[in-house]
Amino acid sequence: METSTEDTAEAASGDPGAAVEPVTGEPTAAGTAEGAAEVSRPAAIAPASLSPSRANDFMQCPLLYRFRVIDRLPEKPSEAATRGTLVHSVLERLFDAPATERTAPRAKSLVPGQWDRLRESRPEVVELFADDPDGERLALWLGEAERLVERWFTLEDPTRLEPAERELFVEAELDSGLRLRGIIDRVDVAPTGEVRIVDYKTGKAPRPEYAEGALFQMKFYALVVWRLKNVIPRRLQLVYLGSGDVLTYDPVLADLERVERKLLALWEAIRQATETGDWRPRPTKLCGWCDHQEHCPEFGGTPPPYPLPVTSAIGEQGRMGPD
Ligand code: SF4
Repeated sequence: METSTEDTAEAASGDPGAAVEPVTGEPTAAGTAEGAAEVSRPAAIAPASLSPSRANDFMQCPLLYRFRVIDRLPEKPSEAATRGTLVHSVLERLFDAPATERTAPRAKSLVPGQWDRLRESRPEVVELFADDPDGERLALWLGEAERLVERWFTLEDPTRLEPAERELFVEAELDSGLRLRGIIDRVDVAPTGEVRIVDYKTGKAPRPEYAEGALFQMKFYALVVWRLKNVIPRRLQLVYLGSGDVLTYDPVLADLERVERKLLALWEAIRQATETGDWRPRPTKLCGWCDHQEHCPEFGGTPPPYPLPVTSAIGEQGRMGPD
């Protein structure tokens, strides 16, 4: 499963891309009901903004969205997602060096130090290798991170790039009041002023029939940039380090208007689910990556008590699908 910078930022509790407001460490109703182990979970609050990752969550499975955004159930770090975070940080830091020094050996040499930093900022990732006392699996995992970093040099030439922004947090409010937020891996601005938005993926490129889904996140960012700067990005670029592919798309105004309409419909569906407490599971093969099967009725589990007030009955307003 592909993860984004927002996922990792949210996991790190910096929360810039999260779909909810920053919260204090108050216990949730659910946490209280479930026992002391979960008492330190952040307080549940209603969704207040949307990021591409959480929008995708809701489209994939409304119940998953609820678990992540409202209940804020903890999730275990995964090797793939953690490696993605590590590779992103290496690619970001490489641009600290002068252009001529941005070589593959230099980038690979950053991997151990960035792994140390990641362990300091997110101690839970150490669990990933708790059963690896001689470090064999860790060495293989770090080697794969180095290979991903090295592959980047076959796709882009950082000696010829001077990013305007790296890991840029963006936030914009639509006329409807919906706040959109996210983190853009890299923004390039040409001398002519044309803007290119770049996102790194450590997985493989999707098959052509799934490219539209992959571009959703990029169009989301393009919409935010357009709303913030009144400039439509000239190009959206997804760089797939897992397969060595680059997917590009040049958006036009109609694309951004379409994605805005889609997000408004999605937000309305989220609002209704929040008010009714009706968060339905939508099982797919992606359930295999879901950390919440023990709370999911599709797998015989029971969700925690709904921690928000229910202000309208199910069916009162009808129900709107996310797509
Ligand atoms: S296991 Fe599947 S259906 Fe259940 S919450 Fe997770 S993604 Fe949704």
